[in-house]
Amino acid sequence: MAKRAAVKDEKKPAAKRKPAVKKSDKPRPTYHTTDIDPATYPPMPPPRVPDNSMLIGAHVGISGGIPTIVERLTSLGEHCNAAALFVGSSRSWKPRKIEDKEIDEFKEAMDSNNISYDAILPHAPYICNLGSLDPVTYRNSVERVVKDLQTIRRLGVRLYNIHPGTVNKGATKPETVTRVAEAVTEVLGRVPDVIMVLETTSGSKYDTKLGGCFEDMADIIKEVDPSVRDRVKVCIDTQHSHAWGHSVQTKEGWLGVLSAFDSIVGLDRLCAFHINDSLTEKASRVDKHAPLGGGTIGWGCFEALMSLDICRDKPLIIETPDPSRWPREIEALHGFGEIASLRAAVERDSAVKAEGGLVSLTEGEAEGEGDVVDIEDSAVEISEDPDAENLLA
Ligand SMILES: [Zn+2]
Repeated sequence: MAKRAAVKDEKKPAAKRKPAVKKSDKPRPTYHTTDIDPATYPPMPPPRVPDNSMLIGAHVGISGGIPTIVERLTSLGEHCNAAALFVGSSRSWKPRKIEDKEIDEFKEAMDSNNISYDAILPHAPYICNLGSLDPVTYRNSVERVVKDLQTIRRLGVRLYNIHPGTVNKGATKPETVTRVAEAVTEVLGRVPDVIMVLETTSGSKYDTKLGGCFEDMADIIKEVDPSVRDRVKVCIDTQHSHAWGHSVQTKEGWLGVLSAFDSIVGLDRLCAFHINDSLTEKASRVDKHAPLGGGTIGWGCFEALMSLDICRDKPLIIETPDPSRWPREIEALHGFGEIASLRAAVERDSAVKAEGGLVSLTEGEAEGEGDVVDIEDSAVEISEDPDAENLLA
């Protein structure tokens, strides 16, 4: 190989070679998002009224335009009533221009299919790092998020999911947390009504990814300006939790995880779940999704999670790798939720009956006497009725 390279070099005169350009010297475009006067946004749909229902969906594509997501989600079966999407390209900084016509068509499709706007959980592109030490990446991340937030606000959607950030080489975790909090404060200050949903992550081997532990979320939220802090929420991803090392394979495990979340972040901040199985082992710190039931987590996790009330009224988004399995995965999650409701209803009925039984056992005599009196009373009534004899005859 070395020889060949030498021959190549001989053929090419040095003078004609392009001067070596270091990656960092290349001019990098920065994008700026012009702010929109808050008064010019269309009215927001009223917030979803909790009705204890399940909101299950998948991360669908937007080729063909944002309105097509409604058709895509309805095609995933009668129990698919939620979705995630990238508002623009997930790999390029360049924002996508969304015309008013597209906004109107989206709303029409949402309303005619009776889909809740709060069941839509758009996802930030992975190129965004709100904790970036590099000023160009940081600014492009902030401006792209602002652009996306402006778009979702126009769509009538509130929630926007984002991985909290990565600690760059040369930066410390606390500094990165501060930068993320400043970015979140800025974007929420520039776009009204919307909610930044920080997604828990798998963490990483060298602890460079924020959001593996719940403490990271609490630290970021604490540093967000109080004027917008109410508009910061959290989404738990089942694969990321498992990969971080949380126990999510059983109901007991989930109860422990949620109780930890409650004491560190507060359950009132939890507003969505990403539902994925894992290609990697528990505590691997590697973010690799598998189809439900086809990974190292297993169905038990999803059955247990769907039995918990905390899942109701929150978007539950599948991000599994095989879209052909989505309709059945959604059906399975819905089925687990239904079974849990039925079980709870049966158990409630049994408890009421058992309670009634206990009352008559403990207060048996008094109850019994009452019954006798009632029967005697009605017997008296009958005998006092002039037609009673005829009736009895
Ligand atoms: Zn996720």
